[in-house]
Amino acid sequence: MKNVSSVVLATLLAVNASANPFEGFDIVDLTHAFDANTIYWPTEKDFKHTESFAGETEGGWYYSAFSVQTAEHGGTHLDAPIHFAEGRWSADQIPTANLFSAAVVIDVKAKAASNPDYQLSVDDILAWEQQRGEIPKGATVLMNTGFSMRWPDRLEYLGTAERGPEAVRSLHFPGFSKASAEFLVHERDISAVGLDTASIDYGQSTDFIVHRLLYEQNILGFENVANLDALPPVGAWLIALPMKIANGSGAPLRIVGLVPASR
Ligand SMILES: [Zn+2]
Repeated sequence: MKNVSSVVLATLLAVNASANPFEGFDIVDLTHAFDANTIYWPTEKDFKHTESFAGETEGGWYYSAFSVQTAEHGGTHLDAPIHFAEGRWSADQIPTANLFSAAVVIDVKAKAASNPDYQLSVDDILAWEQQRGEIPKGATVLMNTGFSMRWPDRLEYLGTAERGPEAVRSLHFPGFSKASAEFLVHERDISAVGLDTASIDYGQSTDFIVHRLLYEQNILGFENVANLDALPPVGAWLIALPMKIANGSGAPLRIVGLVPASR
């Protein structure tokens, strides 16, 4: 004969097994669509989506299929740590658990609007923590610069519409500072950073020190993220699923936020 607590437990387990874990959340898309206007680094080729067939078949039904060609680093994408740190994770080696994280959003839109070379400071992080508490362990720290509003205008978004290696020195967009990266590595325990510009180092960087410091620690990077205004400063969750490219230094990324629904 079962005792009451085992019956209660069995009932609870049955309820949990059938419950939708996403209930109570609004799911927001933080991804730019990939098309001919998708912004890539000035040295990379544009995204190509080539029709193999689209139309009515001889059998009378509709059929469509395309092929795609893309650089790893363009559009909304993952930077795998191996991008700037030998021996660290490639896209396929990242533990899946690291692709699910708490989202912390630091808003620097006002500063970035008047200064396209703005770099996130340690003071920005500390001011955020003053209001919201310490950055949770395993979080993704997202910098909201407001630059996604400029997408896909290359001149507005990158600071230059020119292409090729010569254009790199004309890049102007915000990023993380070296000091902020050092702070996040040494003083906090995060799983990823992300932002709504083309690179976690600001456009004028020549040493890519933020990439080097973070990726050495197997911290992930999410670049060209969209729609960050849809996330609260804290309390949302991220699901960031890149294409699983073997030995990939990065990959196209579908990233969504789970925002607690307002009641
Ligand atoms: Zn990248």
